[in-house]
Amino acid sequence: MVLRVKFTSTAEPISHHVIRQMVMRAATVAAQAFTDAEQAPEDRLCTLMDSHGEVLAARGPGHPLPFEFFLARLSGDLADLLPDGVSPEEMTGVHLINDDGLFEEDLFDLDQEQREVAWAVQKATRDGRSTSIAEIEQEMDQVTVNSGLRKRGTQEAYVKGRSNLSRFPAGTEAVIRRLNLPSVVGQFYRPISFAALYEQWWFACPVCRWPMRITRHRSRKSVNGRAQCFYRPHAKLMGASYTFKVPVAGRPPTLIPGAPPPAFTGAASVLAPNPRGAVPQPMPASGHLALARGPWRYTTVPGLLEIALYDALLARSFAAAPEPGMSPTALGADADCPGSVTLWPYLDTYDLHVDVWLSGGQTKSFLLDIKDFTSEMLLAKKIQADGGDNGGAEWIVVPDHREASLPLLRGVCEEFGLNVATAGEIGQTICRTAGIRWA
Ligand SMILES: [Zn+2]
Repeated sequence: MVLRVKFTSTAEPISHHVIRQMVMRAATVAAQAFTDAEQAPEDRLCTLMDSHGEVLAARGPGHPLPFEFFLARLSGDLADLLPDGVSPEEMTGVHLINDDGLFEEDLFDLDQEQREVAWAVQKATRDGRSTSIAEIEQEMDQVTVNSGLRKRGTQEAYVKGRSNLSRFPAGTEAVIRRLNLPSVVGQFYRPISFAALYEQWWFACPVCRWPMRITRHRSRKSVNGRAQCFYRPHAKLMGASYTFKVPVAGRPPTLIPGAPPPAFTGAASVLAPNPRGAVPQPMPASGHLALARGPWRYTTVPGLLEIALYDALLARSFAAAPEPGMSPTALGADADCPGSVTLWPYLDTYDLHVDVWLSGGQTKSFLLDIKDFTSEMLLAKKIQADGGDNGGAEWIVVPDHREASLPLLRGVCEEFGLNVATAGEIGQTICRTAGIRWA
């Protein structure tokens, strides 16, 4: 079944998008304050009252919401904070506070994604309307990171810098210094955040190597701890979820892995990390740095998949090409080399370029853009606002765990001549074209 969804700029006034954005931003701040037991009560109340004011402003004078109702709804469905007549769209079913009474991490993704969409809409609609969207006060961190990396000018330096952000999202000060990143990028390496600390220790996610979130859970008998990656698919689907018993004072906790998640099968198994890898060991906070959250989520995390796909093709005898379109002779490729692959071509205009060399001197090219959006609805809107892929890619590729978003994305991408696939599917398609095995 192909679900066809149309988002046209006239179907819904942009102001509804802005109302959703304002409500979500304010409610996110409120939910954080509401659940943050480390903050002084009067500071929390102050933040909650400010956020309430912002939600009222977004709802407009016709839709009052008393403070106690606002507080009650923070623990429920986010959509209930919107005024009547505003469709909840990507806010449908989103909860600010989870069953453990903790702030829900996916909201960070939704907020960033909303900004990307607002930005794309702003670019697409030149005149008028921009006042409300001008609320996007500054460029997102990851955009700063990307332009910082591009400043070095050469493809080689760009690829090295960008892959280092995926390979070293955290490390000792000495390791980070040796990456020799431009200072505008290096500034995003900061001390380990409080949310990832157990006293003076932190634990790296086995998938992305970024510090995991540490929480404590109090029952009547004891206090237990939990360490989970901030990126939900790593925690829920790839084994980055552990518990621990509170150790004696001055000692670091020992992590206990949860039940292993179900394995990825078929084409999706190729790029899946090993869910039974080594259990993360405690690392001292002192002398360690980690990337800020925006660049980690929108550069490190998708970069891991881009690099994994690139490496998987190299492992299947594709030649690494500094730029697309190079001939087998120029690359010194031998007879059984099926084609070439370029990572982040033309300083990251899109993510991967694959040339498959067919018989008779023909070449079949695959131009891929990897998109890891938590909300497929927002990704669909961005594609619509960009009028396709803004870098000229011909394939939108989503992580294997986002397979469920394919019908919606296909419906939107069709009119722009864009293909959609999961990472495993595109690997299989490329290998099939080349006449070799993927999985
Ligand atoms: Zn992770």
